[in-house]
Amino acid sequence: MDKCSFCGRDKRDTNLLIAGISGHICDNCVEQAYEIVQEETRKKAPFDVNSIKLLKPKEIKKFLDLYVIGQDDAKKIISVAVYNHYKRLMQTSRHDTSDDIEIEKSNIILVGETGTGKTLLARTIAKLLHVPFTIVDATVLTEAGYVGEDIESILTRLLQVADYNTEAAEKGIVFIDEIDKIARKGDNPSITRDVSGEGVQQGLLKLLEGSVVNVPPQGGRKHPDQKMIPVDTRNILFICGGAFEGIERKIAHRLNTKVVGYNASRQSDRIERDNLMQYIAPQDLRSYGMIPEIIGRLPILTYLHPLDRKTLRSILTEPRNSIIKQYIKLFEIDGITLTFEEAALDYIVDKAVEFKLGARGLRSICEAIMIDVMFELPSEEESEIAITADYAKSKVEKVNMQRLKAA
Ligand code: ADP
Repeated sequence: MDKCSFCGRDKRDTNLLIAGISGHICDNCVEQAYEIVQEETRKKAPFDVNSIKLLKPKEIKKFLDLYVIGQDDAKKIISVAVYNHYKRLMQTSRHDTSDDIEIEKSNIILVGETGTGKTLLARTIAKLLHVPFTIVDATVLTEAGYVGEDIESILTRLLQVADYNTEAAEKGIVFIDEIDKIARKGDNPSITRDVSGEGVQQGLLKLLEGSVVNVPPQGGRKHPDQKMIPVDTRNILFICGGAFEGIERKIAHRLNTKVVGYNASRQSDRIERDNLMQYIAPQDLRSYGMIPEIIGRLPILTYLHPLDRKTLRSILTEPRNSIIKQYIKLFEIDGITLTFEEAALDYIVDKAVEFKLGARGLRSICEAIMIDVMFELPSEEESEIAITADYAKSKVEKVNMQRLKAA
């Protein structure tokens, strides 16, 4: 009986056995071989930065506007930073060293309450640039040798999303979330070892400043037998985000001691976070416990506003893939026309504000309202459904809002 020359399967155990000059191959092996070819071609494909269309800062901002509501200051600063990053990539890809002026990398740090769009901004930029993008949480990082993830694991993730195309990964974007959680705790770092704070900041430095780092391809702990992949971080754009809770006090303190002296700090407690954030400066990050070297490697500092009612209302319907548009799309696939009464949308926003759920809460509230219709409607004859404020109310009143908060 004929056999597959690759896996040895008998003809009767295959769906198809293709004959060659001096052997056979089964359908299963053809598929596997095809995957290998695809993967290898992807790995070898050169990453051509020149194929990226260079958008002007205004165009970049316009793109961000499609997905992110408000946050104009942050968008403007990021648009310029990204534009310069592009130019820098082009300079290095053309090996343009004619005048010895090397454009320095401009890593970014975004400060703003949780749920105000920091990750969304970083994600949208990666979408625009078509470069590998990954999000890592700074809280899981520890100094080498301690329980937790080594700093290099950040690059492992980037390599993985780039399908191990090192060249592409080296031009990717890494979003490091919760960077404020690795702030130095306490003022005197020498008393106890601060494994998850200053040590991690020191470790991050070498990534941020640009160096060749040996990365374990599968992540995890360094293993003597594991073959490391050298990754040059010089052109990787790092965007860090953090809530820096309480940093307004540092800002207020700095502003007041400078302007009106010590006594004014009491009064400053009443100034709203929103008003103060716009004055954030690198020295505030320093008072918060970030080491000066790290701050120096994150030269672009910007902030995000807390989301007000009007912004939340816009977030619900305006972004290109807004939550409401997504529901409409879901029903459209079933041939059902879904509409929301204005009053229903206002009600959703009211609840999000009332329970301080922020933008993430919008989705959980919508989910609570929509779950029954999503369950029932596909089996019914209806071709239209309108969500009214009363309907929304009846559904939301049945759920425990505290549970939504945790979502
Ligand atoms: P952060 O990283 O600041 O904690 P995210 O970017 O993860 O917050 O935001 C959480 C979700 O809230 C996003 O997925 C998005 O749907 C929504 N969101 C937050 N801020 C905005 C905004 N400014 N514009 C549009 N959507 C937003």
